[in-house]
Amino acid sequence: VLAFGGLAACGSSDSGGSSGSDGGSSGSATGKVGVILPDSKTSVRWETQDRPNLEAAFKAAGLESTIQNAEGSPDTFGQLCDQMITEGVDVLIETDLDPDSGKACIDKAKNAGVAVIDYDRLTLGGGADYYVSFDNVKVGALQGQGLIDCLQGKGVTSGNIAFINGAATDNNATLFKQGYEQVIKDDGSYNVVGDQTGNWDPDTAGKVFDQFYAAHPDLVGLITANDGMAGGVIAREKAAGVEGKIPVTGQDATAEGLANVLQGYQCGTVFKDTSLEAKAAADLAIAIIKGDDPSTIATGSVNDSELGKDVPSVLATPVWITADNVQDVVDAGQANAADICKGI
Ligand code: BGC
Repeated sequence: VLAFGGLAACGSSDSGGSSGSDGGSSGSATGKVGVILPDSKTSVRWETQDRPNLEAAFKAAGLESTIQNAEGSPDTFGQLCDQMITEGVDVLIETDLDPDSGKACIDKAKNAGVAVIDYDRLTLGGGADYYVSFDNVKVGALQGQGLIDCLQGKGVTSGNIAFINGAATDNNATLFKQGYEQVIKDDGSYNVVGDQTGNWDPDTAGKVFDQFYAAHPDLVGLITANDGMAGGVIAREKAAGVEGKIPVTGQDATAEGLANVLQGYQCGTVFKDTSLEAKAAADLAIAIIKGDDPSTIATGSVNDSELGKDVPSVLATPVWITADNVQDVVDAGQANAADICKGI
C-alpha cells in the first residue's frame, strides 16, 4: 500500500469517490438540449467529467438531451450543429473548437430561434446568449502562484522558467496566460525565457519542452497550461532524467495530473468542479425553456472584446490542488482514487 500525504492510500480496496456526480438541478421542464463538446484528446475532461456531469444535470432537471463530440473537427462540429437544430433542440450548448466554426453554429442557431450557451470557452465575436465557465484569469493566476510557491518550497528563489500555453484558437488559453503572466511578473523572481503554444497537445508540449531545455539547461520550472500537456512534458523530462527537478503546472485535476502531483513531477493542478459548470448550464437551459428570467442565474458577465459586449455569465471558482489536498478532488467525486493510483 502506497500512502501519500494528499491521498488516503493507493493499493487499498477503498478507492473512494466516483466520476460524475449528480447535477442536482432544481425544477424541471419539458424541452430538449443539444451539447457539442470539442474533442476527447486535448483533455480527458470532456468525456470523463463533462459528459457524465451534463447527463446527470439534465436528467435531474427533467430535460431530454443529446450530447455529441466534434472530435477536433470543425466540419463535424458544423454537421452536429445542423443536426441538432433540425432535431429541434430548444437550447444549444457548445464548446467551440475555434471562433469561426463556433460563431457559424451560433449564427445558425439564432436564425432558427434556438438559444445558445457557450460552455467553458467563450466564442469571441460569437454572440452567444449566455456563458458558463470558471474565472479563467484566476485559473492562470493559480498556476502562476502555484509554480512560485512550489519553487520557493524547494529553495529555488530565482532562475529561468518558461510557458507552454494552450491553443491560440481557445479564448481560455489567452485568459489563463493573462493570469500566470501577471503573477510571475508581479513577483519578479523568475525570468521567462520561453513562451510558446503546446496547442493543448501532450506530444507538441513535449517537443516544445525539448527545445526549451536544449536552449536553457538551467530551466527551473515551467507553466504548462493543462494536465495533458504537463504529462507530455514529464515524459520528455523522464527521458532527460530531470522529472521532478523541473516541475510543471497543470489544470483539470485529471487522474493523470493528480498522479503526477503526488509523485512530485507536477507542482499542482487546477481543480475546476465541472459538476458546477454542468449544473449552471442545465439551470440556464431550464430557465430559457420555461421562459423564466435567466439573468437571476447568470449574475456575472464576461466581456466579448470582439463585440464590445458583456455576455451574461455564470463563473465558478477554481481551486489549486497540491499533494496535500488531492483527497478533496476525490471527495468531490471528480476523480477516482483507483484511477489516480494506476498512474503511480
Ligand atoms: C479548458 C481546459 C482544457 C483545455 C483543453 C480549455 O478551454 O478550459 O479545461 O484543458 O481547454 O481541452
